[in-house]
Amino acid sequence: MHVFAPITLSAHNPSPMTGRGNSTYLLMGPAGEGALIDAGVGEPRHLDELARRLADGGARLDHVLVTHAHPDHASGAPALAARYASARFHKTPWPVEDRHYGVRWEPIGDADEIDAGGERLKVLHTPGHSPDHLAFWHEPSRTAFTGDLVIQGSSVMIQASRGGNLAQYLAALERIRALSPSKLLPAHGPAVMDPVGLLTQYLEHRLMREQQVMAALASGRDTVQAIAESIYDGLAPALMPAARENVRAHLDKLQAEGTAFEENGRWKT
Ligand SMILES: [Zn+2]
Repeated sequence: MHVFAPITLSAHNPSPMTGRGNSTYLLMGPAGEGALIDAGVGEPRHLDELARRLADGGARLDHVLVTHAHPDHASGAPALAARYASARFHKTPWPVEDRHYGVRWEPIGDADEIDAGGERLKVLHTPGHSPDHLAFWHEPSRTAFTGDLVIQGSSVMIQASRGGNLAQYLAALERIRALSPSKLLPAHGPAVMDPVGLLTQYLEHRLMREQQVMAALASGRDTVQAIAESIYDGLAPALMPAARENVRAHLDKLQAEGTAFEENGRWKT
């Protein structure tokens, strides 16, 4: 019986922003087809472990599917290209970021189906965390590779100043939830074995944050900084820029919905 068993390979890039480091996923098919989901950062231990796993599986690296252009997911592409001359690199275009990585990206987009690593994966455009964000859906096992959509036990930053969009992000979470997945394989943290529960928790958390932003506005806090301080009281100073990005993302969403307005850097309802 065929078992769908992606191999998790650490990108070996732990940091405050990446937690214990990124997970990349290797798929290998019976005819030596190999595909890697996310490129890591080119760390030698990642490359060596990939080479060993491919050799063990009698496979070559045909495809690298990248969830989005953030460096912890994409910056390993040139190192992979140098080792695997025939590997093809695929992502949804985000030109200002993609050009940093010096490989030829083949564009993929929503509803495309890709045969990679002996499996058929459906491409889901799930923007919001970044404009180019993709998830990959394996229908037979109801598994979604979800990049930076969710992290078990943590939260995901929506960088409003760098292409993040909260309304799109929430729609992406709802879209994945509507698939009733049995498992999520994220780029950070452990596999998610209760996807509907975690996605629901994420959606409810954002709704609560939105209500907090509305309450802060109603109480007269009218700058991103003041709102962030009122909501994230006691937050470590190093995390405050991320908190401001999240507040900004909420304000942008409220503005798009006609609920909040900005005038000379001051916000009101
Ligand atoms: Zn990211």
